[in-house]
Amino acid sequence: MIDTGADWHTHSTTTDGQDPLADMVAAGAAAGLHTIGLSDHVRASTSWLPDYVREVRGLAASAPLAVRCGVEVKILDETGRLDLPVELPPLDYLLVADHQFPGPDGPVHPEEVRRRLEQGAWDAGSALDLLVTATARALAASPVPPILAHLFSLLPKCGLDEQQVTGEHLDALADACLATGGWVEVNEKWRCPGIPALTHLARRGVVVSAGSDAHRAVDVGRWDYVPVAEREFS
Ligand SMILES: [Zn+2]
Ligand SMILES: [Zn+2]
Repeated sequence: MIDTGADWHTHSTTTDGQDPLADMVAAGAAAGLHTIGLSDHVRASTSWLPDYVREVRGLAASAPLAVRCGVEVKILDETGRLDLPVELPPLDYLLVADHQFPGPDGPVHPEEVRRRLEQGAWDAGSALDLLVTATARALAASPVPPILAHLFSLLPKCGLDEQQVTGEHLDALADACLATGGWVEVNEKWRCPGIPALTHLARRGVVVSAGSDAHRAVDVGRWDYVPVAEREFS
């Protein structure tokens, strides 16, 4: 079961979205959601987060639906270190994302990963092991309940394929989710993860949630891939 009445992944003009937070909340109500999560991008140097949380809580006070405050953060390296400010105001959840490849010494650009794979410096299996290990550790490193955002969206950018992900990889991610209370998102924008991975994770008891990754109010809570994914794996 995926609760399509909750959209946990949205961006506003606070970062790279086109509409202000208030419009995103109004769009969530108009789409018939019971819950909207506001989850703009942060990095360690972000200084506006306390103001952001205050604004979201203010909107929540008068909204006709539940409004939750999260942020989206990237995994930096193989230890699972997160690109988060040290001082965190109270957040409801964290979207944990693989925007760059979490390498042994820090983030690696997907094009660089592709080059290393092509040149034989890395092999696909070890690269996937590294990504899965880093992701599992990032779940454990999250100070608030984590959701894995657009899991495996990085793979095609690196010249890798989700079909190369093994059952052992998925079991390791499921174990990490179950140990940390982490959820896995079905991402509407990137249409990932794929059905086999979702099925595997859901059968292991991992909660699968819905995220539009909306950068415009009109895309909040609008589902196309999410119901297809659900029909296939439930
Ligand atoms: Zn993202
Ligand atoms: Zn996003």
